[in-house]
Amino acid sequence: LAPDFVAGKPLLQTIEAAGFEAYFVGGAVRDALLKRPIHDVDIATSAFPAEVKALFKRTVDTGIKHGTVTVLDHGAGYEVTTFRTESTYQDFRRPDSVTFVRSLKEDLKRRDFTVNALAMTADGQIIDLFDGLADLKAKRLKAVGIAYERFHEDALRMMRAVRFEAQLDFKLAPKTSAAIRENHMLLTKIAMERIHSEFVKMMLSPHWAAGLADFVETQLYLATPGLAQQQAALTATLRAVGVCQNEVQVWLLLAWQMQWSPDQLQQVLKAWKSANDVIAASTMALTLCQQLVHLSGQSLKWALYQAGKPALTDALQVLRMVGQLQPAQIQTFKQQYAELPIKSARDLAVNGRDLIAAGFKPGPALGQQLQLLQKQVLAGTIANKPSALLAVLGK
Ligand code: ATP
Ligand code: MG
Repeated sequence: LAPDFVAGKPLLQTIEAAGFEAYFVGGAVRDALLKRPIHDVDIATSAFPAEVKALFKRTVDTGIKHGTVTVLDHGAGYEVTTFRTESTYQDFRRPDSVTFVRSLKEDLKRRDFTVNALAMTADGQIIDLFDGLADLKAKRLKAVGIAYERFHEDALRMMRAVRFEAQLDFKLAPKTSAAIRENHMLLTKIAMERIHSEFVKMMLSPHWAAGLADFVETQLYLATPGLAQQQAALTATLRAVGVCQNEVQVWLLLAWQMQWSPDQLQQVLKAWKSANDVIAASTMALTLCQQLVHLSGQSLKWALYQAGKPALTDALQVLRMVGQLQPAQIQTFKQQYAELPIKSARDLAVNGRDLIAAGFKPGPALGQQLQLLQKQVLAGTIANKPSALLAVLGK
């Protein structure tokens, strides 16, 4: 039993002592068997929420309508969810209602993939009602039950499928993959934020290219904004070497392959409901990518200065991944950045207030004066000292 489960074991025992069933379920069981790091340990039980709450001192009604109560224990929180079935999915996303049931089998049946439908008892015995262990061993992602129906019920599962492939290095079972293909357009029924989250998780995974390959192969890409017309560029992206280190790099990689302008990238990111800071950072880094490839001398220095370190790191990582820059070139750009005499306006030896004190009028002209000073300091034509800077401005 992994340490995370050892800590949760007394919880299961408390529930069992009250005459109910309780098991570890979901991703934690799967990841433990795969010897992957475990995050949240989820517990499923035959006890109804009120019955769970009666058994523990400190609980939080996390998702009480769906049967989830968080039990707080020694600083850790465990989500304890009542066995449930989900009925009549009419809008291809979340069920209209959940029904609490007393049977583990019914609960495991509604789960998405066989490797996510394993349960484990307090003493570490695995309960495997859908051949999840065999699929785990074969590194196979297979829908529980009839794949077509399961994706038709909840279209988000299709994105989860390609995300798990990329995270776990699994292959889709043939019927599972065929069912995604048949249902791919149902993805348009799902909230963009949820698609976005799965897509980015997929792209940041060690085996992202396997996930992306099936995102294309199953035609899921046809149901997403900005990518629908891009089969060739998406396929070319599969050849990129390495893994993106953050979300900005993910969008930058795609934008570079699609040859999007920063404006086009911004439009796509808005359609994907991306966070504003991600949009700003991605378009900035894309602008820098183009500048790194085309500029030299002073204009390159100015571009490096304006973009800053995070944008440079993202741009270099992506240009390396696509083979646009060789390691030696990347070193040179890093060196050039490191050698910039100032890294931002804050590093300049004078600021707006100093200029006003020296007799300049507040206003737009002041900003231009400051910019002129930054350019000269970067060019190395003046020293970054108050006297030298003011002298340039004739004071
Ligand atoms: P991870 O937390 O690493 O992303 P996970 O398998 O724990 O992976 P969660 O989203 O935390 O995924 O969900 C926990 C469990 O709930 C899953 O293992 C699966 O059994 C079930 N589940 C989650 N989402 C769905 C869904 N859309 N359809 C069916 N079952 C689901
Ligand atoms: Mg989880």
